[in-house]
Amino acid sequence: MTIKPIIIIPDPLLRQVSKPVERVDSDLTHLIDDMLDTMYDAPGIGLAAVQVAVPRRLLVIDVSKEGEDKQPLVFINPEIIRSSEDRSVYEEGCLSIPDYYAEVERPATVTVKHLDRLGKEQLTEADGLLATCLQHEIDHLNGVLFIDHISRLKREMVIKKFSKAAKSKVTV
Ligand code: ZN
Repeated sequence: MTIKPIIIIPDPLLRQVSKPVERVDSDLTHLIDDMLDTMYDAPGIGLAAVQVAVPRRLLVIDVSKEGEDKQPLVFINPEIIRSSEDRSVYEEGCLSIPDYYAEVERPATVTVKHLDRLGKEQLTEADGLLATCLQHEIDHLNGVLFIDHISRLKREMVIKKFSKAAKSKVTV
């Protein structure tokens, strides 16, 4: 079990477009297990590989409620092939933007084509929290953050706050 450090803004890697996973092999399985450990430890309900500094199109999600059995989901090379016109609003946060939350409106239902952890192609139809979480994490693979969906003024305030914090860190 390895808990990997999670990168936070303004790390430029978070703005990079992740590359497709080419092979589902034991190295990838290890990375998936480390990402799940990292997500549960944080704790969070979703994590994209780029957040642990691996810019590959891979994410893990678990939207099970507290007290329920864990339901880890793995999405390799996920692609949204359909989104509903219905929209829903959730208050979102991000492990890469600690302690900041804002309401984001997104399609309420999405259908995602992806590989599972065995490399088998799957179609997942998601609604509710899972639909929002999937879209948030797939955004990460494209270098997009949830603050890109809020007003420019609010976004600039958040970025400024984290940039200042990063500058005031002393490197020796
Ligand atoms: Zn995030």
